[in-house]
Amino acid sequence: MAVVAVVLLAGVLLYYVIQPLLAQAVDGPDTRSSLREELAARKRAALVGILDIESERDAGKLSDEDFAALRREYETEAIAALRGLEAELPSADDDELEAEIAALRAELVCSECGATKRPGSRCTRCGAA
Ligand SMILES: [Zn+2]
Repeated sequence: MAVVAVVLLAGVLLYYVIQPLLAQAVDGPDTRSSLREELAARKRAALVGILDIESERDAGKLSDEDFAALRREYETEAIAALRGLEAELPSADDDELEAEIAALRAELVCSECGATKRPGSRCTRCGAA
C-alpha cells in the first residue's frame, strides 16, 4: 500500500513538474514576454540611435539634413516598437516618445558636462558618477 501511495505521489509531482514544460513547449518559451523584450530592445536601440546622431551632429559630423532624415527613421522605428509594447493600451504618442528620449538622455548624458556616457558608469570626460 505504501508503495502505491509513493508511486501516486511521484506521479502527481511529476505532473506538476512536466505540465508547465509541456505548456511552454506548445506556446514556445513564454512567447509574450520574449516579444516584449524584443520590442523593448528595438525601442531602446532606436532611442540610443537618436542620441548618437544628436551627438554626431553636435560634433559637426552630421549635417542638419542628414540628422533630420536619420532622426525620422529612428523615430519611426521607436514609435513602431512603442506601439507594439502598448498594443493593449492607448497607442503611444510623440509626447511619450519624447519622455522616453528624455529619460534615456538622463541615463546616457553626463549631468555635469553633457558628454555622452554609458549608463551606470562614470563620465569619461569629467569623471562624474
Ligand atoms: Zn561629465
